[in-house]
Amino acid sequence: QSNILEAGKQVLHVLEKAGYTAYFVGGYVRDTLLGRPVHDLDIATSARPDEVISLFARTIPTGLAHGTVTVLQDGVPLEVTTFRTEAGYADHRRPDEVRFVSDITEDLARRDFTVNAMALDLRGDVVDPFGGRQDLNARIVRAVGKADERFAEDALRMLRCLRFASQLGFSIDPHTYEAIQRHAQDIRYVAVERISAEWNKALVGPYPERIVTGVLHTGLASALPGFCQLFEDKHDFTDREQKQLCTADGLVLRWAYLFLICNREAEVETILRALRCEKKVIRACQQIVDLTRRLHGSHTAGERIRWILEQGFEALHEAASLYAIIYEDENVVREMRQLYESMRITVLQDLAINGADLQKEMNRRGGPWVRDLLLELALDVNEGRAENERQALLLRARMIVDEDT
Ligand code: ATP
Ligand code: MG
Repeated sequence: QSNILEAGKQVLHVLEKAGYTAYFVGGYVRDTLLGRPVHDLDIATSARPDEVISLFARTIPTGLAHGTVTVLQDGVPLEVTTFRTEAGYADHRRPDEVRFVSDITEDLARRDFTVNAMALDLRGDVVDPFGGRQDLNARIVRAVGKADERFAEDALRMLRCLRFASQLGFSIDPHTYEAIQRHAQDIRYVAVERISAEWNKALVGPYPERIVTGVLHTGLASALPGFCQLFEDKHDFTDREQKQLCTADGLVLRWAYLFLICNREAEVETILRALRCEKKVIRACQQIVDLTRRLHGSHTAGERIRWILEQGFEALHEAASLYAIIYEDENVVREMRQLYESMRITVLQDLAINGADLQKEMNRRGGPWVRDLLLELALDVNEGRAENERQALLLRARMIVDEDT
């Protein structure tokens, strides 16, 4: 992180030396003043894109039309954007027109919230025309200028507002909040990827319950793709449910919690796919939802052993921890660990034979049968019906196959 800052300072220095003004802007300034860790750094300058390109050895023209050039400084990519104003948002998403300007204040005026509309120069001076610092201290998210206009221009800002409030634990200025309630339906114009990105940032943050109650209470939920199905029968979250959501750890568990508490277990895949979530996340979420429900149903210790072998202890442990949160019963987590520790083998790879051995022994090509048979053998080992030893397992495998045919 210190090398991002060093590289950034170097870029400001080069721009200033060439006679331009240049600042750190946006999230970097906000997070630095809050003492939060910084992950990226945006730079704004009076230099035009072609001038930026000519000043630095390595640049990538990332978004010339909007004035953005990526400068590679000491191997660190930094976005350098020319001061600009924006006009005409016919589609509620993007400006029809951007105009380059020479004054940082005009640039800050196009930004979404006061806490995001500050600039910081090399000397540590802060440019703060909209009272961003005061709002940071009061922990308030407030639109820059007239909230109704700002949300009408770009509907995504409504969700960003809830995201920042959720991520930072801030409250929302009442005028800003009421404007979201008035414009909620416009969120339909926004690309689903951008919606998911904001939602997921808030969902993994320290106050995930705030984005959930936020979309429900503002009316955004009913206009958001995916979320309108998820929250169809769930219009509020009790204090207990809000705490439970916080207690669940990480993106997958929190999504799984929402599906379970909203009774949408059957729609995990449809909804998360509609939201363009990563396949990995969808699969993991579905798995945790299914396992948590199985843990809730009646079952034997033998079945738990089968699930561990089938799905891996990690997943079972996560499901058990989610179960513990929802049903306020910690025992299941302890039981699951004890069971795991008592198992002779916990993964199929620990068997004394593998799939290739079985194919050879049965003289049969690979297929789902191999894994099924390995699983049966692993269960037999765990329940004392077979030794985990090569010959014994091959013999046992023969018996199982003969029984089946
Ligand atoms: P994060 O920590 O998530 O990166 P950020 O504030 O840096 O938060 P970015 O999406 O990286 O958010 O945007 C950088 C800056 O650009 C913001 O701080 C804000 O000033 C401005 N900005 C971004 N999106 C919008 C928008 N939709 N409308 C107006 N200004 C925006
Ligand atoms: Mg950022």
